[in-house]
Amino acid sequence: MSKYIFITGGVVSSVGKGITVASIGTILKSRQITVSVQKLDPYLNVDPGTMSPYQHGEVFVTQDGAETDLDLGNYERFIDVNLTAESNVTSGQIYSAVIARERRGDFLGGTIQVVPHVTNEIKERFKRLAQKSQAEVVIIEVGGTVGDIEGQPFLEAIRQMRNNVGRDNVLYIHVTLLPYLTSTQELKTKPTQHSVNELRRIGIQPDVIICRSDYPISEGIRDKISQFCDVDKQAVIPLPTVSSIYEVPLLLEEEGLGQLIVDKLSLKPHQADLSQWQELVRCLKEPREPVNIALVGKYVELKDAYFSVREALYHAALYHNREINLIWVHSEELENNGSEALLRSAQGIIVPGGFGVRGVEGMIKAASYARNNEIPYLGLCLGMHVMVIEFARYALDSTKPNSTEFDPSTPYPVIYLLPEQRGVENKGGTMRLGNYPCQLVDGSQAANAYRDSLVYERHRHRFEFNNQFRNLLEEAGMVYSGLSPDGRLVEVCELANHPWMVSCQFHPEFGSRPGRPHPLFRNFIGVSKEILREGAQPSLPLSS
Ligand code: GLN
Repeated sequence: MSKYIFITGGVVSSVGKGITVASIGTILKSRQITVSVQKLDPYLNVDPGTMSPYQHGEVFVTQDGAETDLDLGNYERFIDVNLTAESNVTSGQIYSAVIARERRGDFLGGTIQVVPHVTNEIKERFKRLAQKSQAEVVIIEVGGTVGDIEGQPFLEAIRQMRNNVGRDNVLYIHVTLLPYLTSTQELKTKPTQHSVNELRRIGIQPDVIICRSDYPISEGIRDKISQFCDVDKQAVIPLPTVSSIYEVPLLLEEEGLGQLIVDKLSLKPHQADLSQWQELVRCLKEPREPVNIALVGKYVELKDAYFSVREALYHAALYHNREINLIWVHSEELENNGSEALLRSAQGIIVPGGFGVRGVEGMIKAASYARNNEIPYLGLCLGMHVMVIEFARYALDSTKPNSTEFDPSTPYPVIYLLPEQRGVENKGGTMRLGNYPCQLVDGSQAANAYRDSLVYERHRHRFEFNNQFRNLLEEAGMVYSGLSPDGRLVEVCELANHPWMVSCQFHPEFGSRPGRPHPLFRNFIGVSKEILREGAQPSLPLSS
């Protein structure tokens, strides 16, 4: 039977609870304990798929095609597991399941209530994941902060679990923030005490408190929290802000959290092996030469909108012993005249995914700049549409080629709605989602990167390359280097007469891992790092 770790957040959101959860997974996995993870999101949307990136950040797509919270991306990268739809549960899913059952008549005669119907449905999801994953430990993160109205049924459900599966099989961890007062130069524990009180009020006594803070936490503060919150002193774990998220597992391990969890849940006492992480952090801390990459998107004000893309770039740069100097370029700004200057120092240009017409012309300009100046270009989903539109405008010598997403009446619809998408009315969960196979063409840049001929990658889109234009663009120099196995869909395209201009219809960023960069990102950075831009000096070989 699986054991459960429930993680709640206190005081404020955005203190890195997701990274903490992912790191707990890492330190358990380093002891050969199998883990799975679940994120509970209190909002009423069924999934984040229909939310704006400004509201929610990136939508992370699992292999089985679920549109999920970006924390799942961190779980996958840290624990190196491929999660499934069961790993993200929202209040919207819970309520719609309960109401559907009510309509079917499953509860005939009964009054449907939050307790027990909604809480039972929630607990059902815990057990479903435990059963499907067969993990020794299931880590469950409750989104939001204790005290949120929407989160209450989740907290009640995790409270009940202690009785249901036994006290020794459940551990509660509370992640809080210790704010710093500049006037008195001290960290304050009162908000933590309040949020622990709030937890106790609903019947949950945390076993461990992880204290986030921007400043070092003294023994005195630890004592105080231990005493006021009734938690063993060694179970008050300081987690100061660090320069790289990949340091967090090492910090938690140093503070003894791994051993503490093993003891409290009576898990097999294996030695932790975090050597891979130590090596990763060591490399990260070494000074590296920068490589300038321009990320051209329309949600750049909110960096979380491109979370996995950014991480994939970091992984690839580390592989080449380089540091990414990420230049965030707002695609709408590129639409102004003379704005190409924004790209002047870029050694590589990346255009990630997105929806809607706003800012697309700026992205097309970026693709044109990359093609004309022989700057490496990586297009991801929308970035591929942009590359195809730009190349068609060049090949046809017309400004008209477009995607029907942006210009429904274009005479040259080089990107159009998938036939199976026509007539789809509902917006939620109806895109082409999740893993699909892609056959690579021998000798292409894509095949050279993957060193493989058949790959599976995650999709999330409605629009697609229009085969009517295949020959025309091929004659002008476009290579279709990845196709669906039946040859019907263009999955990867690249330019023959360019150092490296490669785009894919899928989202490779979701599959990249620290220490195992995605092949397309790896080669993109590999080519970019050799590009010299204005004012740059060629690097001298280091004398031995
Ligand atoms: N808007 C495009 C489509 O729906 C691209 C989507 C994306 O970049 N994920 O096909």
